[in-house]
Amino acid sequence: MSESEEHLTPVVIVGARGRMGKALICEVVASDHLVLDGAVDRSGGPGRGQDAGVLAGLHSIGVTVTDSLNPRRHTVVVDFSLPEATQNNIRRCLDARVPLVLGTTGISAETVALLREAAETIPIVSAANFSVGITLLTKLAGLAARALGTDWNAEIFEIHHKHKRDAPSGTALRIGKAVAKATGRVFADVVTTDRSKNHTQPRGKDEIGIVAARGGDSAGEHTLMFLSDGERLELTHRAGDRAIFARGALRAAQWIADQKPGLYDMRDVLGLSDLS
Ligand code: NAD
Repeated sequence: MSESEEHLTPVVIVGARGRMGKALICEVVASDHLVLDGAVDRSGGPGRGQDAGVLAGLHSIGVTVTDSLNPRRHTVVVDFSLPEATQNNIRRCLDARVPLVLGTTGISAETVALLREAAETIPIVSAANFSVGITLLTKLAGLAARALGTDWNAEIFEIHHKHKRDAPSGTALRIGKAVAKATGRVFADVVTTDRSKNHTQPRGKDEIGIVAARGGDSAGEHTLMFLSDGERLELTHRAGDRAIFARGALRAAQWIADQKPGLYDMRDVLGLSDLS
């Protein structure tokens, strides 16, 4: 590492060949605070042995994509790969005693258990959505719901690209859960995603409605509405592209480098955990 790079946080990207991996490489190269120390993807495939910068559509940066994770001391591992790779990646971080930022979604209960166990030894940030804006929106949802109470009707609208398979989005569900929790409601009992099922009845007082639209290339839009007689409060987040998740994850990477062992999420990274 050169003298000018000594103050930088070295990161290793796992899942380097993927959509998120390439976005992460681009953001690390553009960062004044981070330096790429490694890029890993599964064995086989076209990217192995290639320069990570070239792979991400940039210039050569002198970091070759490898197929095994062996992080050096003082690096931070950022994993956006696939759930089947996660357990091995956690163990490699544990062996090397380095922090982990985990963005891979769909991990099993067994992997979550391993994550908790590993967090007794190393610091880990895990989040299903690393967007700074969505993390704040979810926090604001709870604060607003608590202040407004159940007299204000909460409704959520979300839009995603035409390829998305699940509906409503996991993020819409998390926003709804934050509203329910803040107002003492059990989310599963009050959420409604299909009003045609109960079309002879008006809206239930405690209901939290979620409507999902699909089409085009939207990276994700979420609006939480609180409706009352004569006034309406709307909180909206619009994702431009997946670079926002990469930037959030790298903010987490910089933050986790100085933390004690523990399992953290984006609320901790943004200093929102103690805000009630
Ligand atoms: P992708 O399919 O484009 O990329 C996944 C990459 O992981 C591929 O290059 C694949 O070869 C690689 N991979 C597979 N097995 C591996 C292994 N054993 N070791 C190393 N690399 C391996 O997927 P994507 O769109 O880049 O998303 C990756 C993950 O990140 C998914 O789980 C996705 O849901 C998640 N994601 C999370 C957030 C967030 O904010 N937390 C945002 C976007 C995507």
